[in-house]
Amino acid sequence: MKAARMHEYGKAVVLEEVPVPDIQPDEILVRVRACGMCRSDVQLVDGYFRKYADIPTPITLGHEITGVVHKIGGIVPKSSGFQEGDHVVVAPGWGDGTCRYCQIGNTHICPNVRWPGFGPYGGFAEFIPVPARYLIKVDSRLKFEELAPLTDAGMTPYRGIKKLRDAGALGPDRVLGIFGIGGLGGYAVQYAKLLGSGATVVAFARNPDKLAIAKELGADHVISIKGKAPTDISKELSKATGQGDLDAIMDCAGAPEMIQLGFNLLSISGHYADAGLVGDRIDIPLFPRVSREQTFHGSFWGNYTDLSEVMALAAQGKIRHTLRVFTFDQINEYIDRLRTGQVVGRAVMKF
Ligand SMILES: [Zn+2]
Repeated sequence: MKAARMHEYGKAVVLEEVPVPDIQPDEILVRVRACGMCRSDVQLVDGYFRKYADIPTPITLGHEITGVVHKIGGIVPKSSGFQEGDHVVVAPGWGDGTCRYCQIGNTHICPNVRWPGFGPYGGFAEFIPVPARYLIKVDSRLKFEELAPLTDAGMTPYRGIKKLRDAGALGPDRVLGIFGIGGLGGYAVQYAKLLGSGATVVAFARNPDKLAIAKELGADHVISIKGKAPTDISKELSKATGQGDLDAIMDCAGAPEMIQLGFNLLSISGHYADAGLVGDRIDIPLFPRVSREQTFHGSFWGNYTDLSEVMALAAQGKIRHTLRVFTFDQINEYIDRLRTGQVVGRAVMKF
């Protein structure tokens, strides 16, 4: 089968022929039909994660995976309902199944977690073995190129906004800021409207094309932050919404200057959820965080339940996509384009 594998950190990915993988008895072999490309694929190649987990090579990239059930392992129970030919998405974050995080469904934060696309098997290949319990059967009318990004870009902000909602930070008299309108942000704007309980949604970004997409996807207001001081941005926010600060922030970028700005704009008792990893550190004054009783939520990817909920919204036609579809042969080209921020929306490889 074809596979895009990284043999050395910092080098182009090698597109090569490798054997079709075997499956364990509890696994299903999925024939990949589409796989989204994420900024974290670029970061993996560039070595961003190396100080946290030095994954041995070769690594098959790609973790936003959808495809078709090709072969079912011997002990996959009949009650799972899987049949050859079923359309499926892969819930990433495969836990050990026994720790206290796994026991309540948060397999993606299991200390022994495994990720497709960050080891020997990934979605930029024609086949991938997946433990049956991490597959979700989907409506066969949904397009593969739209399903793929929902497993990360379209799920990660969903989880983040659920955290803000569950913390009581959203409501009709609240203003929710979406920071960074890249692959995740376009989805975040939509979830902000779906889950925001009537909160006013304001998108913040530098790129005018990305702000136009945010507006088109339902943001009540968009604010360009390019070259502006926080006080001026606050004034613009006040003019647009009637208040100069934000009750809640969903940060899909995680860039150091965005985080500085975000905390500058965060209200008393405000909640800040970050899922973005563009930067690597936060340096912000402490006293306002304590005296204003603000809360920071790390929000990482999502679990099986989050993905099931996103799939239900997709099946109801409630999620819109901004996609750039490309072919297997263009993988390195798209890694370069993503690295330099040249992709508007989500890039998805389709076989
Ligand atoms: Zn676990």
